[in-house]
Amino acid sequence: MKYVIVGNSAASVGAVEGIRKVDPEGTIMVLSEESYPAYSRPLISYYLAGKVKEEDMYYRDPDFYEKNRVELLMGKKVIGIAQKQGTVEVEGQQPIPYDRLLLAVGSSPYLPPIKGIDNQDYYFFNYFNDVKEIEHKIMNKQVTQPLIIGAGLVGMKAAEALALLGLSVTVVELGPHILGSILSEAPARMVQRRMEEKGIRFIFEKSVKEVPWGQDPQGVILSDGQGVLTDLLIVAAGARPRLELVEELPLGKNQGVKVNQYMQTDLEDIFAAGDVAEGWDTLQEENRVIPIWPGAYRQGFLAGLNMAGLKTEDVGGFALNSIGFFGFPIITAGVFEAKEGNEEVLCREKPNSFLQLVFRNNRLLGFIKVGEVDRAGILTWLIKDRIDCSTFKENLLKPDFCLLDLPLALRRDRMRGGENVESIGCA
Ligand SMILES: Cc1cc2nc3c(=O)[nH]c(=O)nc-3n(C[C@H](O)[C@H](O)[C@H](O)COP(=O)(O)OP(=O)(O)OC[C@H]3O[C@@H](n4cnc5c(N)ncnc54)[C@H](O)[C@@H]3O)c2cc1C
Repeated sequence: MKYVIVGNSAASVGAVEGIRKVDPEGTIMVLSEESYPAYSRPLISYYLAGKVKEEDMYYRDPDFYEKNRVELLMGKKVIGIAQKQGTVEVEGQQPIPYDRLLLAVGSSPYLPPIKGIDNQDYYFFNYFNDVKEIEHKIMNKQVTQPLIIGAGLVGMKAAEALALLGLSVTVVELGPHILGSILSEAPARMVQRRMEEKGIRFIFEKSVKEVPWGQDPQGVILSDGQGVLTDLLIVAAGARPRLELVEELPLGKNQGVKVNQYMQTDLEDIFAAGDVAEGWDTLQEENRVIPIWPGAYRQGFLAGLNMAGLKTEDVGGFALNSIGFFGFPIITAGVFEAKEGNEEVLCREKPNSFLQLVFRNNRLLGFIKVGEVDRAGILTWLIKDRIDCSTFKENLLKPDFCLLDLPLALRRDRMRGGENVESIGCA
C-alpha cells in the first residue's frame, strides 16, 4: 500500500502514527512545502519571544521519520491531484502515485482587502518562516513599533511576543474586543487590561484601510482616516482551510473539506484531517472545522487507522483552548455564549478572575475560565460525558468547588475514569 500525506504538521504526524499502528509494511511519503520537520505551531510566538529554543520546537524526536520508515520530502509544494490517475503533482517532479492520500494541509492566513498592501512589506504569523523573518528584522534593529491587524488568538500571541521583546505594539481590531472567537466581552476586557499593563495598545472597531506607498515614516491609515505609524505590519486577520488542491475535485466542501466518520472525503481513497477538514463537533452537533492542535492530531491519527484498513469511527470533539498571556491563564471549552435562547448562563466575576458556564437542558455545553485554571478538568469531563448537572450546577461556581460537591455516584464514575488525585482534591 502506498500512502501519501500532503502536509507535515499535527494531522500528518497523527496519520503516520495511525498508519503504523496497523500497517508496518506500506510505504509512507510525506510532502511538505515547509522546510522543517514537524514543529509545534502553537510555539512559534514563544520562539520569537526567546522563550523556546529552535531545537525544542520539534514535535517528535529527530529519528521519527526514520523509525516510522517515512520518506519526508521537505520544501515540496503539491500543486495538483490527478484523482483518476491516483497521483499527486509536485513542481519539477514526476507525478507521485498513491493508493491512499491524506490532505493534512491546514489553513492559510486571510489577507483582508487593504489598499496598497501589495506594494509594502507585511508578514503573516502562521509558519516558522514567518517568525524567522520577523526575528531577522528585529535583530537588524529595523523594528520599534509593530502593528498587528487582528486581535484573535494568533494576533494576541504575536502581540505578547513582540511586547516581551520590548517593542511598542499596537493592535487594530474590527470587532469590539479581543479574542472574539473564544471569549465574551467581560473576560476579554480582563485579559485586555493585562496586556495594556504590558504596554500593548488596542484600537477597536476599526480596520486598516490603506498602506500608503513610499511614506517616511511608514504607517497605515485606518477606516476612520486616522494614521498610525508602524515599521512592522503583521496580518493576523484569521485563517481559512486550504482548499486550493481540492477545488477541481468532485468531493464535498463547505468551509472545509467534508469528511465522514472515518475522515474519508467523498472520494474513497482521499482522506482529510486537521484544520482543512470539517470533523464532527459533538456539542454543536454538526460537521465543522475545529482549528486546534490536539484535534488535528486526533483526526490525523484516526484517518491513519482508517487509511490502513482498521475501520474506526470518529466520536467527534469540541473546541478547547488553554492559553495564557503574560502568565494570565485562559481556558475555554465548547459553546461559550448562549445562542439559541434555551441556554442557561451562570457567571462568577471577581476583579482578577472570571468563570462562565453555559448549560442546555442542564448539561454543561461550555465554559470560560480566565485568571484561574483549577478544576477545568472536571468541567471538561462534565461536557464530554454529557452529565446531567441539574442537582449541583450552582456548586460549580463555588471558588473552592471540588469533586466532593458532586453526587456520590458521579464521583465514583469519575474515579473509575482513572483521574489523578490532584483533580479530585479540594483547593
Ligand atoms: C501562531 C499560532 C498559534 C496557535 N496556537 C494554538 C494553541 O495554543 N492551541 C491550539 O490548540 N492550537 C493553536 N493553533 C492552531 C493549531 O496550530 C492548528 O490547529 C494546527 O496546526 C492544525 O494542524 P494541521 O496539521 O491541520 O495543519 P497545519 O499545522 O496548518 O499544517 C499544514 C501543513 O501543510 C503544508 N501544506 C499546505 N499545503 C501544501 C501543499 N500544497 N503542498 C505541501 N505542503 C502543504 C503547510 O505548509 C503546513 O506545513 C495555533 C496556530 C497558530 C498559527
